[in-house]
Amino acid sequence: MPPSSEIQFSSAELLDRDFANYKPRLSFGGDTLEDWLNWRNQLLLELREQLGPFPYEAFPLNPQIVSTENHDKCTVHKVIYHSRVDIAIPAYLAIPKGITAKTPAVLCIHGHVPGGKESVISGDGEFGAPYGRDLAEQGVITLSPDNAGMGERAHPSGGCDFLWRRLNYLGYDLTGYRVYDLIRGVDYLQSLPEVDEARIGIAGLSGGCWLGIVHAALDERVQAAVLSGYFTTFAQTSWFGHCICHHPKGVGELCEMPDIAGLIAPRPIFVEWGTADVSRPVHPAFEMAQRIYRAANAYDQITLQEFDAGHLFSGEQSLPWLVQTLSRK
Ligand SMILES: [Zn+2]
Repeated sequence: MPPSSEIQFSSAELLDRDFANYKPRLSFGGDTLEDWLNWRNQLLLELREQLGPFPYEAFPLNPQIVSTENHDKCTVHKVIYHSRVDIAIPAYLAIPKGITAKTPAVLCIHGHVPGGKESVISGDGEFGAPYGRDLAEQGVITLSPDNAGMGERAHPSGGCDFLWRRLNYLGYDLTGYRVYDLIRGVDYLQSLPEVDEARIGIAGLSGGCWLGIVHAALDERVQAAVLSGYFTTFAQTSWFGHCICHHPKGVGELCEMPDIAGLIAPRPIFVEWGTADVSRPVHPAFEMAQRIYRAANAYDQITLQEFDAGHLFSGEQSLPWLVQTLSRK
């Protein structure tokens, strides 16, 4: 036994030692389409279990329009719809002017930022392009809801941490809770007569990127995704910090973040990352996901754009890509 002055008492540092040789149980290790299919089925099953429980039956949406603003190229409605019993979701629905046929739609998931959905509709550029508005101006319908614990859904006593602790106590997971709301957002979009229900995409920055990865993995109605600013690994983010809402309980035992992205294959994804955003590195996460896409015979369906900036949504290439991809599907 070494002298007490040499004993390491910090559990966090002792866990670092164990982490050096750690590999999640279901990280993808195959090469072939058959490997990918078998792995995908098992990980999807276990991930749903990890993030749930989810409601068995969809509660009626009971949608209503609260207010309407006219802009040059689109009309922005403030809407409310229900996700679960007593859970109402405030959101912006932006509809391009002049549409005459059923139109593609994009669920725009806001980042881990003050104001929630405001940043994607009326953002001043601090977090980059306001993609909910920009996409509507490029001709697709967008829905930009507040995530639980954020925007109008925040509690005066706190956002993520307050909600995470209560859900954890009850046996729920905050990521799963938020993703279920996003699934209901797609339900709402598909209920609209203006929306082409077979052409649904998503776009998200930061915490919205993380939720978008999980949502697209679990919801096959999502046909294409722009994932910005949080396409990374748990090992490079959650292990060191970032909000507790970005890592479900025990997820590292199961898989790494790019494994979840690999569940989206063969559906196309466009990843974008500002090279100055060093606390959310896209490498090696992108290459890990690329390997999974290759096994799924979808190597050409995963794209990365790096741009010279920090933690923000560029949109320069990704938004036209999303509009074109949804339009030709
Ligand atoms: Zn959070």
